[in-house]
Amino acid sequence: LPIFFSACSDKNKDPLYLDASQPVEKRVNDLMNRMTLQEKVAQMSQYVGIEHMKAAEKDMTVEEMKKSHAKGFYPDLHSTELIEMTKQGLIGSFLHVITSEEANRLQSYAMQSRLKIPLLIGIDAIHGTGLYRGATIYPTPIGQAATFEPELAEKASRQTALEMRATGTHWAFTPNVEVARDARWGRVGETFGEDPFLVGQMGAATVRGLQTSDFTGQDKVLACTKHFIGGSQPVNGINGAPCDISDRTLHEVFMPPFKDCLDAGAYTFMMAHNELNGVPCHTSKYLMKDILRDTWKFNGFIVSDWMDIEQVHEKHRTAATLKDAYLQSVKNGMDMHMHGPEFADAIIELVNEKELPMSRVDDAVSKILTAKFKLGLFENPYIDEKKVSQVLFSAEHRETALEMARKSIVLLKNDNNLLPLDGDRYKKVFVTGPNADNQTILGDWAFEQPDSCVTTVIEGLRMVSPQTDFDFFPFATNLRTMEISRVLQAKDRARKADLAIVVVGENSMRYMWKDKTCGENVDRYELSLVGLQQQLVEEIYATGVPTIVVLVNGRPLSTEWIAENIPALVEAWEPGPFGGQAVAEILYGKVNPEAKLPITIPRSAGQVQTYYNHKQTSKWFPYGTGKSTNLFEFGYGLNYSSFEFSPVKLSAKSINEQDTLCASVEVRNIGERAGTEVVQMYIRDCYSSVVRPLKELKGFHKITLQPGESQTVTFNITAKELSFYDIDMNYGVEKGEFEVMIGNSSRDIDLQRELFTIK
Ligand code: BGC
Repeated sequence: LPIFFSACSDKNKDPLYLDASQPVEKRVNDLMNRMTLQEKVAQMSQYVGIEHMKAAEKDMTVEEMKKSHAKGFYPDLHSTELIEMTKQGLIGSFLHVITSEEANRLQSYAMQSRLKIPLLIGIDAIHGTGLYRGATIYPTPIGQAATFEPELAEKASRQTALEMRATGTHWAFTPNVEVARDARWGRVGETFGEDPFLVGQMGAATVRGLQTSDFTGQDKVLACTKHFIGGSQPVNGINGAPCDISDRTLHEVFMPPFKDCLDAGAYTFMMAHNELNGVPCHTSKYLMKDILRDTWKFNGFIVSDWMDIEQVHEKHRTAATLKDAYLQSVKNGMDMHMHGPEFADAIIELVNEKELPMSRVDDAVSKILTAKFKLGLFENPYIDEKKVSQVLFSAEHRETALEMARKSIVLLKNDNNLLPLDGDRYKKVFVTGPNADNQTILGDWAFEQPDSCVTTVIEGLRMVSPQTDFDFFPFATNLRTMEISRVLQAKDRARKADLAIVVVGENSMRYMWKDKTCGENVDRYELSLVGLQQQLVEEIYATGVPTIVVLVNGRPLSTEWIAENIPALVEAWEPGPFGGQAVAEILYGKVNPEAKLPITIPRSAGQVQTYYNHKQTSKWFPYGTGKSTNLFEFGYGLNYSSFEFSPVKLSAKSINEQDTLCASVEVRNIGERAGTEVVQMYIRDCYSSVVRPLKELKGFHKITLQPGESQTVTFNITAKELSFYDIDMNYGVEKGEFEVMIGNSSRDIDLQRELFTIK
């Protein structure tokens, strides 16, 4: 990059890089010319915020803390060291700065450094900037995907960006666009589900919301597309475990959503913990250089995941020393290191020893500095702490979070129209279950929020149906320690009610690590309800009182008995702080549900991997025992209306590859109330050179219809919808017969079908 060394700046003048009227590229060059190697490597170094480190350690015993330091999890860095390093310009970025005071404080230290380069501050704002107390939290991504409404995800992400900038952070470590193919993996709730098309649509919308078309400006934040790649199909469902994925599946299933995010402008990528086909992602030349840089022309920067380059040496063992791990990683394209003190010294040594080309460091640093200039950090690294409360949890943001919650809750079962609830008939309603009154509705990546900001399920019920006599029987939030005596007491109390609502599921509360059953690093080998929750449901049901089950969880749960016996079942996911209100509104029919499953719900963990877009032979033979069907299929979800679909009409029966075919259906609301339906289009290539899935989602439209109203929904089918990697791994369309299927779920019985030919 000779341009960095061409200009010889006069170091006594006002530095050009501080002149906001200059183009970003010139400012970057000017600044780079003034920087020492050590200052450059500092820009590639990120450390965790001091307050966060303290919060994470709050619940640890001294012994546990020592162990975690020894494991390198939280290096034994004292706040004074971090402060000194920042003042000397030896830290370019922090993550998880969880108070606005700390954000300003850290920036003020950075402003004492020689070149006054502001800090880039990243945070896991996965569904709102939830590690900040008082922020607006939205449903977790799995619930966002259930809305089938990318525009809403874009809106929520824009609001998240505003809350982040107001609190002093500039870089959201989201979207997680891993295609979830194993429900045992604890991070499924952080994803947009199992379908590459839906995941890509939701991910790209998130990127647009955070960054807009360009991330220039003081109200923008960087998006971080993660984790590249394969971690959502780990051996045994364990986070970070090896992933063996064929090149074909990688390109057809796992990579497309990442490419969609890149096309939406995502400026940063985070590598995945795991190895892929024997190569740790953090050192993979194939992923970082061949795919990202050379094939996809990615022009932003890559960040490592939490201390994962270290794991290349310590766990993957494809580097005999830590220094070699850093070398392999940075040489192959890593631009920033997340957390830990050894990285910078090693990189400096490696450059001095001519093992690592200086051009690689310059390349990384210029991209990071470009972001800092574009985000306006050189003009103002600080925030106005007095204004934080004006932006956070504003009426507008709350409204979006509530709307999203309402649209994310899936009605799975409703026998004999038990729902919506008739308030006159069910006067005394018994409510129980461990998730009826806690903050697990917020999901992972949220710290405890003020109670006043959260409406739990029981609070929502009381708010939405004030005339009902709710008898609430609480359980502690630790699912593993439920006591049988309390379960039986609950049963006794339930007998006196007209109806029972049982709220069960998982616990993803980040600030209660020891209680968690779901979320990052909480993987499972079964997918049933933890503790005595299932028994609780069975006991209540046995009383004969009509029983409704509400699930609050971040991953599919195989609740076969419940699905078969309980008349009404609601999947609420982790619906956010207004989740209790939204659940209650749906139960009482104030809101007509419209969400659809973004992931298949299996009967048992033994069915993993089960996903709707499978090959025909995946279901060649039924299992020898038990049922072979899934519990609930992708794209499925009930509402209180009823929609009728006409047969599919095609604009032609046969087209050329370059033509567009229109496939349409007429959808009519034959129910008694207005409702919203997600019209889904799936395609199958009937015969092809390689084995193709039975169906793949290629389009969806959401429509709202009044009773009796109908609307024609049209999908365009082009080469894009029909292409795949053929036997020679060439991407394109193969001539022959295709089937288009349109309906309101991926279930065969819900689909209208028609055949067409590509000439
Ligand atoms: C997770 C990332 C996250 C990072 C920073 C890691 O453990 O895998 O998704 O962005 O921590 O919190």
